Amino acid sequence: MDPRRSLVFALALPSHRESGPPSLPVEVRALQADFRLLVNLCLREAIATNVTSRGKLSRFARSRALELRVTGPIGVAASEIALGLAAGHRKRLRRGIVARVPYVRTPFVRLPRTCFHFDPDTGKLRLSLRRGEWSSVTLAVSDHHRRVLADPRHRLTQMHVGPRGAVAIYARTPEPEYAPTSLVALDTNERSLDGVRVTSEGPAFVRILFPELRAIQAIHFERRRFLAHKKANDRRVGRVLLGREGRRERHRIRSRLHVITRSIIEQLATERAALVLEDLTGLPQPRRRGIYRKGSGGPLRSRTFRRRLSHWPQGELHRQLTYKAQDRGVPILWMSPYRTSRTCPRCGELSEHRSRVGPRFECRACGWTLDRQLNAGVNLGLAALRSTAGLGGLRLDPDALSDDAVSPLYPTAQHRRAREERTGREGEDRRRPPETAMPPI
Ligand SMILES: [Zn+2]
Repeated sequence: MDPRRSLVFALALPSHRESGPPSLPVEVRALQADFRLLVNLCLREAIATNVTSRGKLSRFARSRALELRVTGPIGVAASEIALGLAAGHRKRLRRGIVARVPYVRTPFVRLPRTCFHFDPDTGKLRLSLRRGEWSSVTLAVSDHHRRVLADPRHRLTQMHVGPRGAVAIYARTPEPEYAPTSLVALDTNERSLDGVRVTSEGPAFVRILFPELRAIQAIHFERRRFLAHKKANDRRVGRVLLGREGRRERHRIRSRLHVITRSIIEQLATERAALVLEDLTGLPQPRRRGIYRKGSGGPLRSRTFRRRLSHWPQGELHRQLTYKAQDRGVPILWMSPYRTSRTCPRCGELSEHRSRVGPRFECRACGWTLDRQLNAGVNLGLAALRSTAGLGGLRLDPDALSDDAVSPLYPTAQHRRAREERTGREGEDRRRPPETAMPPI
């Protein structure tokens, strides 16, 4: 399925004859109430009968929609929302989280493509209530909205109308995947992506540094610890504050990752390069299972290390790279990370255990030595060239690489320090005007 994106619209302000905040017409509010009821009915049905198939639940939804005098496609849209909520509920139960059956409180309506018509020029959104019966809502449309909707790669698929505005959901047709002429293999690490770039002119090391992610995580960890300590006697307030702190951290990390991944993918697309990454999906999840050394029965690393590992946003990094690559037509090759950091790329010698590799990889058989993370990237590149016939023109000879020439590729993602966070004391300094700012009289 093509990735879905969304555009948020506010309701247009009422014309000068009316007064007060913008509001929805009565019939639209009635439709929202009916839709909410439909979602809740379908949700109960899905949980009570353990239905997970779209077909079965949509039949139920159509019959209920008929009773409520709402068009069938709207009923089907309600059943799809209910299926998603029911799946989330089952997941929580499976994980042993005590959860009540969800219940939708906010009235809203999700309209499938056949049930609305939107004119971006006037902002007029017409909604089908039932057979032959329409209502309309005016939305505030900006130039950005018009630009996005005029793009031929975008097509509207759904419209979500809530109490204060609407969200247009659209699909974007991805660019067709190109035939790569070069290759960039990257090993995913905590502070960097490291590896090689192989072009027809030969291989070179590349490294994308993002030390600011660790800095952001450290700041928020300290602050969470401070808050937990300060609010130890007030768990209700403590929970709210800690939750807010965690969300803020996630948003900052995510936004940083967007800058990094966008610049990587743009660069790859202009070079017509394929991206090689390690497929980390099969690795044990540190948060759920814990990492244990084989046979020892005890935790492998320190508590601090495990915390850092479980906060490592590699899943999000790979998710962003995947969908952005798909959008720009960049081919991604997923390689197994098995033994990549302890194999010699020159002679194939396998060193014993990863923990003995250290910061530098040293081959006992042939004397090859290289930074461990770059070494893993070289191995990923070699594995990709071995397994992909389409890259036959490219060669990766480890001896052609010179160790001291690591190019910090993708300059836009470089050297961006984490922004200073607010301390809550900025105002004090600003109120006192600096003495030099006074103009001489
Ligand atoms: Zn070797």
